[in-house]
Amino acid sequence: MIRLRIFRWILIALLFVAAAIVAVLVVRRYDYPDLSAYESLHLADGAAPTGQVTVTYGGVATLLFTDGTTSIMIDGFFSRPSLLEVLATRIDLDTQAIDDGIANMGADTIAAVVCAHSHYDHCMDSPTVALKTGADLIGSQSTAWIGRGLNLPEPRIRIADYGAVYTYGAFTVTMLESRHVPLSWNASLIGRGLSEPLTPPARASEWLEGGSYSILIEHPSGKALVQGSAGYVDGLLDGLDVDVLFLGVGALGTKDEAYVNGYFDALIGATAPDRVIPIHFEDFLLPASAHEKPIPALFDDLERTLAALAAYLDESTAMELRFMPYLAPVPVFQATELAHVAN
Ligand SMILES: [Zn+2]
Repeated sequence: MIRLRIFRWILIALLFVAAAIVAVLVVRRYDYPDLSAYESLHLADGAAPTGQVTVTYGGVATLLFTDGTTSIMIDGFFSRPSLLEVLATRIDLDTQAIDDGIANMGADTIAAVVCAHSHYDHCMDSPTVALKTGADLIGSQSTAWIGRGLNLPEPRIRIADYGAVYTYGAFTVTMLESRHVPLSWNASLIGRGLSEPLTPPARASEWLEGGSYSILIEHPSGKALVQGSAGYVDGLLDGLDVDVLFLGVGALGTKDEAYVNGYFDALIGATAPDRVIPIHFEDFLLPASAHEKPIPALFDDLERTLAALAAYLDESTAMELRFMPYLAPVPVFQATELAHVAN
């Protein structure tokens, strides 16, 4: 009898502890970092002179480069399944969100959709975007299998060896070797690739990385490098001089100072950009239709990352830290104005 009572009290205590943990996690899930210090660094949207490039940012690593004649999209990730869906279900494409995403990016015809790597938050929608806009799909073997799983015609699938170069109109796209940021909470998500078609719905973890790229976009207007994930190979980009660096910063707040500085040296130090624009710092477990929020403190330390980035760039007068507005074209290679921020 006493034993039963003790057992009951232990059970109640355990339930209480579990409920407290869940409550803390739910609160911290929506505990967003304060990025107001960077509000004044947002670029103003605007048109580019005829034939010059504008870039539109769709959150995470989704970017649209266009010169008015030819358009190139990076990733095109719009479905944005929720945390609960990612953890507990097989995730699926949200065709309405994809249609809205394409329309919001201002891209009805695209020459190529380029995947930075094949995780779901980069590549799950890319073949559908390609199908809807007439684009080629460029990426790794895994990206190709994701395209095949969604019946993208084989001639439109371009499997990019490291160093592969593609030309579309006045754009040249070069797929440079890179690495994914090491994920301490789940190392198995890195370094594996697909070897058969992947057709959603599927577990989020089934979109295997399949190798990562730094994507070099060259145009007579200027040169941009898109780094989707905060991984690097020391020295690989040395001497590659670019005008604008779109720098993936997701998960960087979970790395130690030596890693962060190594990443900045390998990307920023090596390419000497005039402008560094952080990307992949949103809470992508919220729908794209929600007002964009930064990655919550539960998953990353964005305040630390951006402070380190600002300090790194402060050491050079030639490089400026800037942020993109969402879903608005910015002539990134011009001496663009800053957006007016209401006080
Ligand atoms: Zn990834």
